[in-house]
Amino acid sequence: MRWESYTCRMINAPTGENIAVAAGILQAGGVVGVPTETVYGLAGSIRHTGAIAEIFHRKGRPHDNPLIVHVASMKQACELTTDLGRAAIDELGNHFWPGPLTIVVPASEGVPQAITVGLDTVAIRMPSHPVFLELIRTAGSPLAAPSANVSGRPSPTRAEHVQEDLGDEVFILDGGACEHGIESTVVQIIGDTLFILRPGAISQRQLEEQWSGNVLRAHEQGREGIVRSPGVKYRHYSPSASVVLSYSVDDALSLLNQHREVTIVLVPAIYVEQFSHHAVRLLSTVTLFDEFRRADALQTRTIVVLCDESVLANDALINRLRKAAGIDGKG
Ligand code: AMP
Ligand code: MG
Repeated sequence: MRWESYTCRMINAPTGENIAVAAGILQAGGVVGVPTETVYGLAGSIRHTGAIAEIFHRKGRPHDNPLIVHVASMKQACELTTDLGRAAIDELGNHFWPGPLTIVVPASEGVPQAITVGLDTVAIRMPSHPVFLELIRTAGSPLAAPSANVSGRPSPTRAEHVQEDLGDEVFILDGGACEHGIESTVVQIIGDTLFILRPGAISQRQLEEQWSGNVLRAHEQGREGIVRSPGVKYRHYSPSASVVLSYSVDDALSLLNQHREVTIVLVPAIYVEQFSHHAVRLLSTVTLFDEFRRADALQTRTIVVLCDESVLANDALINRLRKAAGIDGKG
């Protein structure tokens, strides 16, 4: 089937035929919803500026927030950068790719400004999801892809979430629920230091095990001046419900008493029993965005979250929770 004749553009099984349809859409300058191991993406070919513009438009993405470029081979990655970038990709990519690590490197001349939003660097990742990898190969070009949600909404972790946010006009490949459920870790090497620009599915400890120099968290307040990722200043990941963080069981229980309107409580697994008299749900990186969307579907007014030591020690999880609660990042 040719993509031009494809009328029912919604959720599609990841068959060879549907991957070919999706690749046809991309080659003709369209956009496609794709499964990845982190969250679902809205992909467009880096060779089509119209597709890049459509990604920003459909998401309502701020125009100063650059896109990650996804590749299926080291060769594709190397073509996007300079010698300096190739060294970084060799060192980190060889260990963490394919996987949820995004590496910011100097951009080669061929990388469109529409993707880097005028920066002289480009963010590159080789995903591990077999459907996404197959799509990049079939389309024959690296694919720019941010998360496939309307900007500011929780990231999509299932194909239905993409349809919920972007409607019936986008062709979506269904790869099931995402393995990590949280975005990639974004890093940049400067000198001997590896800066974490955005915490994500690869932890600081995993990076420290591989990197002989310092590993610093650039996303934390006070450090943003050194290197920064444009996207981290935005308030992301928010459900319509208000998110209230609590730091002890007593704290959480008293908040539940204060917020008597429709409320749910998210807690780490070991506390579920203690909250069984409330509308309790499990808190984990894999299910966080799913729970936010579920709460909205139930018209929940308040989500109380119990952040114990294990949550506070999980950089990616506490980062997303603080943003959702409006504690970190602007409007
Ligand atoms: P998203 O694709 O929506 O998950 O966001 C991608 C993240 O990567 C955002 O935080 C961007 O600001 C960041 N990013 C993309 N390109 C660059 C770059 N060249 N330099 C720094 N951060 C980048
Ligand atoms: Mg995003």
